[in-house]
Amino acid sequence: MLKESIQDIYCDQVVSVAPDALMGAAISLMREHSISCVVVTEDKKPIGILTERDVVRCIAEFGTGFMDRPIGELHTKHVFTVNQRSHIIEAFEAIADNQIRHIVVVNDKGEAVGVTTQSDLLEHLGYEYFVRVKTVDQVMNKQVFTISENAVLMEATREMAERSVSFLIVCEDNTPRGVLTERDVARLAAGKGVAWDCPVKEVMSAPVHTAHRHDSAYDASERMREKGIRRLVVVDDHGKTIGVITQTDMIRGLESQYIDTMKTIIRQQGKELDRVIQRLSEKTLYLDSILSSSIDMGIIATDANLKIVYYNPAAEAILDVPACRALNRKIHDIHESESIDTGRLQQALRIIHEKHFHTFQFTRQRDGKTVHVQGRLSAIKGQHNGDLIGYVLMLQDVTEQHNAEETIRNLAFYDMLTGLPNRALFYERLYAEIARSRRNNSRFCLMIMDIDQFKKINDTYGHHTGDNVLKEVGRRLAMLLRGTDTAARLGGDEFAFILPDVEEQSAMMRLANKILHALDKPVVINDHTLNVRYSLGIGVFPDHGIDAEALYICSDEAMYKAKDLGRENSRSNVFFAD
Ligand code: GH3
Ligand code: MG
Repeated sequence: MLKESIQDIYCDQVVSVAPDALMGAAISLMREHSISCVVVTEDKKPIGILTERDVVRCIAEFGTGFMDRPIGELHTKHVFTVNQRSHIIEAFEAIADNQIRHIVVVNDKGEAVGVTTQSDLLEHLGYEYFVRVKTVDQVMNKQVFTISENAVLMEATREMAERSVSFLIVCEDNTPRGVLTERDVARLAAGKGVAWDCPVKEVMSAPVHTAHRHDSAYDASERMREKGIRRLVVVDDHGKTIGVITQTDMIRGLESQYIDTMKTIIRQQGKELDRVIQRLSEKTLYLDSILSSSIDMGIIATDANLKIVYYNPAAEAILDVPACRALNRKIHDIHESESIDTGRLQQALRIIHEKHFHTFQFTRQRDGKTVHVQGRLSAIKGQHNGDLIGYVLMLQDVTEQHNAEETIRNLAFYDMLTGLPNRALFYERLYAEIARSRRNNSRFCLMIMDIDQFKKINDTYGHHTGDNVLKEVGRRLAMLLRGTDTAARLGGDEFAFILPDVEEQSAMMRLANKILHALDKPVVINDHTLNVRYSLGIGVFPDHGIDAEALYICSDEAMYKAKDLGRENSRSNVFFAD
């Protein structure tokens, strides 16, 4: 199979010379290293190339008088380069399109790091190529340039330069006797005292290596590789020259057959890459819009040192801190600006190391209102080694949810009309107070109170006025009692008070009178002054009941007894349970 990239095949020893090096020295270098070109560089960057073809051209033009001239004046100025990480196909294409044999390999800085040649490429030609290019005559070149073995060397050199060919076949009666190649000429040029007027037969390469037109292209290629030559003369059954097969022909065959396949593959890979890029950018866009606009979740991402690297608009809205003031600062600063104890952050980080995330709530003030924020801090671990690479803090304004929950709690436990605890909360508090008093071995009192002849108020002034009387009772009670006391509306016109930490009966009576004194004051509603009267029964825990039910019943009975007293007078009455 063909290798993928140029760096798999190129020869990484680039023989380079400065532009002021002499031609003679450069040609000697080629011979010394058995290479077919030297690269002309300036600051390691290729500015030209001197090939065997250039040497032939110079000899044809100047004879041998150019050896002392600087290479910078005579080398091929246009040098083809390919990046070492390029696909091998780029070198194939450049060599085939430009009909060159060398391409200089450069690194990312544009410095020459090697040379790859036609021969290198052919050596790495895949077997698949030879499946397609089966026989020599599929790729051989029928146009050949021949010269007689008695022709003079200089004449032959000029012929090669004029025709821009890399070799001439030396023939007699169309039978190949040898070849004269650019390499032969370059080698001769590097030697001393060359007789440029000698006949070609004295300096040609012989014997000639031949192939038959029906030979397999693979075998022909292998032969060239083995012999280190770049061409075979193709002969017919009578040994007469009918063409030539060169590495260039192989490359051309490759261009037409193999590269097409490669191009298709690369195009497909390109399309796939485009699709991946498209998918990625769609995903990025999608994520970006999720993170930045379409959600009200504040997202703050930090690096492992807690420096903020991402901060979305929702975070700006929740914390009232713009991104420009948050980015690149430590998350501690956010805590400080929110007056949140940074010790809480340290604690959160400790928890995260154990269970990967930590949730918490805090409140902040905005325009005089309390905003409730719920947060979740979690660690981001690297995909490969699981190392901590940062943290994500997600924040959500849960004020609405918090208020809704509070409303539900209020509906379940508070009386809507008066705002006092309802029967359900009354019982919870009663159970709690009984438990507390048992633990402390203390006493408390439970008072049950009912409005006298409340129906009459409703009947006389209307239900709405009745409601307002109940509200006023609630308001006065709320003002009167301590934080540890409970005043509840049990239903209708019935109220109850849980009054802890009163031991003496006299103190209880004083409290009851204080309540009734406050409530007895006339209630003014819509210009009507109402004198509302009450009946109040007092029970004591544990004296009148050791559980909630028993105590309630006793206190309620006491209230009814007070009611009986009320039938004889028109003031509020208190009755202490027996
Ligand atoms: P008593 O002196 O024996 O207590 O008689 P009363 O007229 O006060 O009647 P009772 O306590 O037996 O019943 C309470 C009445 O209060 C029954 C009902 O008409 C009225 N009531 C109950 N709930 C409400 C309410 O939410 N608003 C108003 N305006 N009246 C209510
Ligand atoms: Mg009543």
